[in-house]
Amino acid sequence: MRPKELLHKYWHWLGLTLFAMLIALAALIAPNRISLLELEREAFAAENQIREKLLEDPQLVTHALTVPGGATQLTELFNDAGFGQRLLRYELYDSKGDLVFTRGLANLRLNRPAIAASINPNRNGATIGLYAGDGTNGPSHFARLHVPINLGSDVHGSLEIYLDQSKQAGVLTSYFGVIALVILALVGAGITIPLALAWTRGRAQRRAREEVLYLQSHDSLTGLANRAKFTERVGQALERIQDDAMHMAVITVNIDRFKELNETLEHQGGDRVLHDIGTRIQHVARDRDIVARLGGDEFAIALTDVAALSDVMAFVHRLGSALTRPFHVNNREVVLTTSLGIALAPADGDTADVLVRHSAIALSRAKLDGGQRMCFYEESMDKAVQQRHTIEQDLRHALRRGEFDVVYQPQYDLKTETPCGSEALIRWHHPQHGIVAPGHFISVAEETGLIVPIGEWVLRQACSDATQWPEHLTVAVNLSPAQFHDGDIAETVADILHETGLAANRLELEITESLLINDTEEVLAKLNRLRELGVRIAMDDFGTGYSSLSYLARFPFSKIKIDQQFVRNMTRDPAMRAIVKTIIALGESLRVTITAEGVETQEQADMLRRLGCPQVQGFLYGRPEKATVHADKTMSDAVSMSQLPKRPSAA
Ligand code: C2E
Ligand code: MG
Ligand code: MG
Repeated sequence: MRPKELLHKYWHWLGLTLFAMLIALAALIAPNRISLLELEREAFAAENQIREKLLEDPQLVTHALTVPGGATQLTELFNDAGFGQRLLRYELYDSKGDLVFTRGLANLRLNRPAIAASINPNRNGATIGLYAGDGTNGPSHFARLHVPINLGSDVHGSLEIYLDQSKQAGVLTSYFGVIALVILALVGAGITIPLALAWTRGRAQRRAREEVLYLQSHDSLTGLANRAKFTERVGQALERIQDDAMHMAVITVNIDRFKELNETLEHQGGDRVLHDIGTRIQHVARDRDIVARLGGDEFAIALTDVAALSDVMAFVHRLGSALTRPFHVNNREVVLTTSLGIALAPADGDTADVLVRHSAIALSRAKLDGGQRMCFYEESMDKAVQQRHTIEQDLRHALRRGEFDVVYQPQYDLKTETPCGSEALIRWHHPQHGIVAPGHFISVAEETGLIVPIGEWVLRQACSDATQWPEHLTVAVNLSPAQFHDGDIAETVADILHETGLAANRLELEITESLLINDTEEVLAKLNRLRELGVRIAMDDFGTGYSSLSYLARFPFSKIKIDQQFVRNMTRDPAMRAIVKTIIALGESLRVTITAEGVETQEQADMLRRLGCPQVQGFLYGRPEKATVHADKTMSDAVSMSQLPKRPSAA
């Protein structure tokens, strides 16, 4: 800041300080001046009294001047005037100025300069000189009074009287000392109090500013940097690594199925988990790494100065170990899985924004692949993300525009070769892309929550269509986990059954194993309520998810559907065949119907029959078809198939 600007900013402080200095100076100088004036006034008063005494007794004066030794009587005069104690010396001079008589202290240092003198004589011609003692002995202050002796109009001589003023000076010094101290204290307080107040206010403002800056750049829950701060710091780190020819990794971390966890733990519990995750990540990271919470359940770590890929892998390993340890929330033990997306610099991007975006893309790939994994960014992912984004946009309008349709794929009883029911499968008639299979949009619908209204629509449509079929045929409808977590699925199903008039025992709901991984108790309770309605529950795609036989023991499924991959490979792979055989045996002992999915060839059908599989579904028996075609077929199949056993319909 230039001096002019400084002056402009602090002029009031400068003014105040100068003013205070002036007052302080005055407080130091003025008492001295006032003391001298007071001593002079006192000396003149003494001179007046002595003169009056002299005038009262002119003979004594004449006697003193004319008779040798007569001046000794003057001592009594001074005593009478009340100055006996303070009289240090007096000298009597005749009219010619010759010393006639002297008495008192001889060693008063008269040659020392007066500290003040009233050179101007008063109306009687007297003059005053004020002296300070030399500090060794004698008085500290004394006055010299020059008193002319005029009896009538003639000057008869003069008296030089030395009067002790130590006591008066002492009183004045302590009196003014106290005043000076009080003034200095007031001036000091006048400066220091406003200064202290201004300093405290300035400090509070500084702290508030720092606080605001901190809040703007940090996440309040975890205390970690937020997205903006993270991007800024990654940008700075990128400049450094470019100079040092090093690498950098941006890792985005997301908690699998956090939404469900948050709902079960309630908001506070969810926050606790997020806070603890932040702490654990920070523990694992080094000081020079950058850790942030990007929002929701998404965290990010930028590993700066990475020398080799093994550094990144070592960190991922440490992070994995830290995050898989159980969290203790609301007296519960919570175990999490996470997904990671990794982008490397400079290969995957040379700006912070691009790196963060690419690591997020890699993360969504990891999530799409089922979570609980990590993905490194690849260029092709960018395109996939764009596609998903477009699907999401289109999906939002599809239901309202009536672009969905349900097709039905028959399920056959393998013993009788007659249809026993059909599975409802959704199709999307996209205005530009034509018919879109569920594999392309169900996961997007699940992520966005759109699966809830879509699934309800399918359920209503399927139940309504099934009322047109022969009564022994069931309809199977797929349910997504989200339909269990958002809203009351049992109530929805009951309403739809009531609305459409379909008998509950003709409806089969297909769920997958993934539904049972989290919140098993809550889900099992909902499944039980559905069973109480009389609806059947089938375990779909058995063997592909997180298969746990304990689910089968805890919930009485009506059906287990063997996943297509086992059926597809069982004819050439003995291990797959063994699995199919085991699942069929499991069904027998648990008294659960087994349906083999994806039966495409006669060879597969024959093998399944030999293994004792009760039901089949697949292209060999019928492709998914529209409700009208399906209704006609099932009607005729119901008759013709019973007449032509062991002959499946052509795929
Ligand atoms: P899923 O429930 O296991 O359905 C069977 C899938 O296998 C269907 O695919 C069907 O067309 C196909 N498929 C049947 N037989 C054969 C065969 O012999 N060979 C081959 N290669 N495939 C066969 P789709 O219709 O594409 O459905 C895929 C998945 O989408 C379904 O698997 C289901 O998980 C899901 N899905 C379909 N409709 C719905 C729905 O309305 N709601 C929900 N939540 N999911 C649905
Ligand atoms: Mg299914
Ligand atoms: Mg299936």
